Amino acid sequence: MTVRTRIAPSPTGDPHVGTAYIALFNLCFAKQHGGQFILRIEDTDQTRSSSESEEDIFKALRWLGIEWDEGPDVGGPHAPYRQSERKHMYRDYAETLVKNGHAFYCFRTPEELDAIREARTEAGLSTGIKGDLELPEEEVQRKLAANEPYVIRLKVPEEGVCVLQDKLRGTIEIEWSQVDAQILLKSDGMPTYHLANVVDDHLMEITHVIRGEEWISSAPKHQLLYKYFGWEMPELCHMPLLRNPDKSKLSKRKNPTSINFYERMGYMPEAVLNFLGRMGWSMPQEQEKFSLQEMIDNFDISRVSLGGPIFDVEKLSWLNGLWIRENLTPDTFVERVTQWVTTNTQWNALVPHVQSRVNTFSDIAPILNFMLAGMLPLKPEDFSHNKIDESQVKRVLQFTLWRLEAQRQWTKDNIFADIKFICGAMGLKMGDFMQPIFVAIAGTPNSWSIMDSMAVLGPDMTRARLRAALDLLGGFSKKETKKVEKEYQEISK
Ligand code: GLU
Repeated sequence: MTVRTRIAPSPTGDPHVGTAYIALFNLCFAKQHGGQFILRIEDTDQTRSSSESEEDIFKALRWLGIEWDEGPDVGGPHAPYRQSERKHMYRDYAETLVKNGHAFYCFRTPEELDAIREARTEAGLSTGIKGDLELPEEEVQRKLAANEPYVIRLKVPEEGVCVLQDKLRGTIEIEWSQVDAQILLKSDGMPTYHLANVVDDHLMEITHVIRGEEWISSAPKHQLLYKYFGWEMPELCHMPLLRNPDKSKLSKRKNPTSINFYERMGYMPEAVLNFLGRMGWSMPQEQEKFSLQEMIDNFDISRVSLGGPIFDVEKLSWLNGLWIRENLTPDTFVERVTQWVTTNTQWNALVPHVQSRVNTFSDIAPILNFMLAGMLPLKPEDFSHNKIDESQVKRVLQFTLWRLEAQRQWTKDNIFADIKFICGAMGLKMGDFMQPIFVAIAGTPNSWSIMDSMAVLGPDMTRARLRAALDLLGGFSKKETKKVEKEYQEISK
């Protein structure tokens, strides 16, 4: 048997360090066994998926040095590797399950579903709805003939226990009463994650599914699907979730989670990969610094420990320092730094602002300082404002941050439109509104074009600086956050 592993990211949002972490472990496992590592794009949620995000995933993984044997951009024997291009295939599988009595057409409206759920809660039953949804055959036929919209749902046992094997966790037991009659095919004909994921893993001959522990609750449904289709199920291995230093689930509110941010900060890809390899795993002699090849050579998945691995940026910086000092010669150091500076100062965009402001070349240093810096050394006083109070200043930063977090096309014009929108919605004068933004991004209220700066700094560094500014001013308490979120929804309408 050839070992075949995969990652199956959904291209929504920024390329996440969690995706790279799971990719790394899949890659090591496959390579250690002389097998193949596949990248599949799960873009069945067409409203949330974007091709920019897909490109970002490819670019970020490649920057780290992670390569795949098969995938949407490299092809392979099981192409296409993008689910949106495979969507015609899934319906037949769902229909086959209906024919064999393992799935059923469901015509319930959301209101009916709510009513059923409520009735079940009142009767002290679990809220996992199943049999209540099925209709007598004649009625199903009548509704189908009348072209009523429907979904196809999986039949799930009412009671008993689902027993799963996990390479790291051993036997996992989940009560069937906890498991819903999962939708497999949506009313628009698109498959859900569960159906597409199982069908593709089977067709792509995946032997081991190594993924984050947040997918454990999906495993019973997947096991049923394999059984109903009569297919062999891949071995499961659910990796521990990455955590913030306070042990909460890694989130961008507490830690930058986009791989691009770490590139922008000037980390070495080798060090980031090394750091991800240390998430829950260690080398046989506990050596802290190792390359991808060393990790593959020494890999043993059973040495993954389940205690939540902490994504501690300080630790990463320390490790990165080791890599810089021990692995770069003076020549390669210069090469890397030059390349980093070139990538991160897009001269074409900057020249108009810089050239007009300097008398000597050395004058560029103070002008470009904040463009090359990581986080800026600011103090709360830097944000004191003579027109608007601190709670307004915080709103300016927070609303702008939220608006820019949703911006998928990072161009100067779009950033400007977002800022103008928030400024208008808050009813502030542009000058007053922009002051805290200038300070957060450039460290001073009188820098050159902040829109150009943000465009060149990129989404990750821009958002990280806005977030840091907000944190510096104390952010919002839990209670305030609710209120501020409401205000934001109000003005975003
Ligand atoms: N599309 C899922 C994700 O976004 C894949 C989960 C899995 O590996 O099964 O991570």
